[in-house]
Amino acid sequence: MNDCIFCKIVEKKIPARIVYEDELVLAFEDLNAQAPVHALIIPKKHIATLLDARDEDLHLFGHIVKVANTIARDRGIAERGYRLVANCNAESGQSVYHIHFHILGGRHMQWPPG
Ligand code: 5GP
Ligand code: ZN
Repeated sequence: MNDCIFCKIVEKKIPARIVYEDELVLAFEDLNAQAPVHALIIPKKHIATLLDARDEDLHLFGHIVKVANTIARDRGIAERGYRLVANCNAESGQSVYHIHFHILGGRHMQWPPG
């Protein structure tokens, strides 16, 4: 998608600190980290929101969980615990309209979220 910042990161047109990449997904450090570990896992395919996921996209979400586990183990937060969160639409706080899962860890998380 032309004006999508995360598509531009996928295409390496703008820089990001990439922590994982394969044919389906890319993961990179969040620019405004909210925890010692804070990366974003995105499908390379442009899908604006979770509501736009189609049946043919569903395999991506299981794969994202697998990638989150890989990142968590690599960064030493698997056993301590991590949070995987995706915001959908405005009231949730979604600000970039290309599906992304935040993986957060390395500190104690509060619940409920703000
Ligand atoms: P949302 O609010 O949509 O759930 O999360 C969007 C996230 O993307 C935010 O945490 C924000 O810091 C991050 N972000 C926005 N633009 C960029 C960027 O250009 N590069 C990186 N690495 N992160 C970004
Ligand atoms: Zn996109």
